[in-house]
Amino acid sequence: MASPKYLTGDKPGIDAFIDQFDTFLFDCDGVLWSGDHLFPHVPETIDMLRKRGKQLVFVTNNSTKSRSDYKKKFDKVGITANEEEVFGSSYSAAIYISRIMKLQAPKNKVFVLGETGVEQELASEGIPFLGGTDEKLRREMNDDDFKNLANGSALDPDVAVVLTGLDFHPSYLKYSLGFAYIRKGAHFLATNIDSTLPNAGSLFPGAGSISAPLVEAAGRPPLALGKPSQAMMDAIEGKFKFDRKKACMVGDRLNTDIQFGIEGGLGGTLAVLTGVSKKEDFLAEGAKVVPSAYVDQLGDLVG
Ligand code: PLP
Ligand code: CA
Repeated sequence: MASPKYLTGDKPGIDAFIDQFDTFLFDCDGVLWSGDHLFPHVPETIDMLRKRGKQLVFVTNNSTKSRSDYKKKFDKVGITANEEEVFGSSYSAAIYISRIMKLQAPKNKVFVLGETGVEQELASEGIPFLGGTDEKLRREMNDDDFKNLANGSALDPDVAVVLTGLDFHPSYLKYSLGFAYIRKGAHFLATNIDSTLPNAGSLFPGAGSISAPLVEAAGRPPLALGKPSQAMMDAIEGKFKFDRKKACMVGDRLNTDIQFGIEGGLGGTLAVLTGVSKKEDFLAEGAKVVPSAYVDQLGDLVG
């Protein structure tokens, strides 16, 4: 396997790398910013790529925010981007349900373990849902709940899909409902299955850790619609129309972003070292996921 090219400080190398592509897919957290901290020279890098005529797509696994939430975040931190350029894992799941599964009413409802990002994207595709941020499901289960789940009276017969994302208020009641729907034949989907979630300089349980109890109970994994799922790549390609060989995925995480680009047959992948993966992870002998190039930080492309 070819070793990745280190581009920081290599102006001719950077220019030659950028010239190979007409589309850049950007991971967000760990590449553009970390939480609320914008990395240096990111707005200038994005502007430079736009001036060079590149198509940009912002591809995030963060299911808690919708595309319109992301647009607000881009505005707040000073990056030029529009809502249509954002492709999040909640949106990916919503369009998979509406455009690929094409469920017919009335059996077309989605039971959600997740936050408003999932709810807003389902609503934008006209998909009915329940669960999600419903505060009534955040309580402890009582004897009646057990009985009503066992006899089915607590269940909506029109639920066809259980969709998990990151849920900040998981409860045993929500898991019991999700499990009951899966046992009754509902499809099991996840916005993404990242094991961990970087925040405040540390790691927390990610969306994969939220779906894990259902995986254990049901004995099978969900169909995941975020990076590195190629269902997401196909959906992005369907919307943005690009030549995969002339597209580059930029990301901080080898097992989601870089793998996503490699499995998708993109012309290149660029790792940045401001997030989860470290250069030792891909420079080590026998490393399985190796980007085509890497920089210390995204802003080095204009530095
Ligand atoms: N999931 C959640 C809930 C997050 O908050 C984040 C980052 O903020 C991610 C996933 C990872 O997002 P990205 O794919 O942009 O790195
Ligand atoms: Ca990331």
